[in-house]
Amino acid sequence: MKKFCCLLLCLLFAFPAAALGEEVELVVSVKPHAIHYAIYLPEYEFIYVGYDTQNDNAKEVLYSKNGAFQGTCYLPGTVDESKVGLNFYTLTGKLICRTTLTAAADPEIQGPAAGLSAEKAANRAQNVEILPVKGGIRYYFRLPGRDSVVLKCKSPQEWHKITLYAGPDYVYQGQVDMPCTYADDTVTLTATTGGGVEVLSESVYAYYDAPALTDKASTARLNGVTVCVDPGHQRTTQIETVPTMPGGEQTTTTTVGMAKGVETKRRESQLTLEIGLKLRNALMEEGAAVAVTREKQDTFVGMLERADIPNSIDADFVLRLHCNSRTSNDQVQGIEVYCPLGSTYAQAVAARTDYKLMGQTMLEAMQQFTGQEKGACILNNTYVGNNWSMMPSFLIEMGYMTNMEEDLLLSHPVYQERLVRGMVEGVVRLARLRGLIE
Ligand SMILES: [Zn+2]
Repeated sequence: MKKFCCLLLCLLFAFPAAALGEEVELVVSVKPHAIHYAIYLPEYEFIYVGYDTQNDNAKEVLYSKNGAFQGTCYLPGTVDESKVGLNFYTLTGKLICRTTLTAAADPEIQGPAAGLSAEKAANRAQNVEILPVKGGIRYYFRLPGRDSVVLKCKSPQEWHKITLYAGPDYVYQGQVDMPCTYADDTVTLTATTGGGVEVLSESVYAYYDAPALTDKASTARLNGVTVCVDPGHQRTTQIETVPTMPGGEQTTTTTVGMAKGVETKRRESQLTLEIGLKLRNALMEEGAAVAVTREKQDTFVGMLERADIPNSIDADFVLRLHCNSRTSNDQVQGIEVYCPLGSTYAQAVAARTDYKLMGQTMLEAMQQFTGQEKGACILNNTYVGNNWSMMPSFLIEMGYMTNMEEDLLLSHPVYQERLVRGMVEGVVRLARLRGLIE
């Protein structure tokens, strides 16, 4: 549906912002380095917001239960009254409304520290320390002889260009807020002098705080059930060639690469880890005993090891989390559940029709909790981890990272929670089906 924004400043001055159709109410309050906005869009649950000035640029997804969305544009690099473009989109990238505002000037711009003695100008930053922290990046470096530098901070979701002034002893230190940057994404910091000479260039991974092990079992639907959660991939892969299934001649060699977010630019391995650790905790809260095949990005778990881990603990189920990719068609979306078909281990677990019923049960629970209607349950001989598992094993493609809408949803905490709830419900129904619980 096409709309236009009716912009209401703090004192409710209303004027049309972009005539695209029907009227939308937008309220903004402008402060130095920040613009707070509130917009009412009753027919949306998630929207995508983008804003940009000459020095700041960012995008993020917002969620609302009742259509009242609010958020803040952070403008660390914008010090004068420059123009701010503020755009609201659907998750499929369709423009809902747009407006242009004027940023507030910063009355407290810091100049160079008094008493800097003109040392011989360094061409490279010294004592550099770049530290990812929650919501941003902390920096410390020395640059003798330079009164000021321009610092650029860039991630796939946002970038900022900030003028920094030297403190005593030509030390530069502080924090760049990067609230729109996803966990574990690559952030690059570069600093240049007024003359355009690059004096610093560093890359770090944005802050990620893995959820701690839960200690509470608030409900007990899964008492006595053991589940293994296998977050697919890891930061860097190693090539292996292993037997595809027990009793077969065929081998499988690691496919290099993994799905990557078409819009978020995120790595599949980070998404499976984020959702996997949330799933671990949710299953434990239901009373299940849970093992995970990995708890961090910088590790390596081989294809066979991903079956050995659940086999060695005699798990009742193993859930292998992945995100899908179809570069040839960005419209494809949905949840897919893959079960093994012909391996001797798979046949010992369940007959083909029973496996199909189990896979379908997991799929339907996930569809019910996420609202994703598209999807399929497929039996095949493709996946080594599935083929070598001695218990019901499901490779779950939670969504397509090549589809803009699904890519944005997969990284949103609200949608991740729905995926987790769906999988927990799926395990409860499977445990009943297998006679493990009442
Ligand atoms: Zn994968």
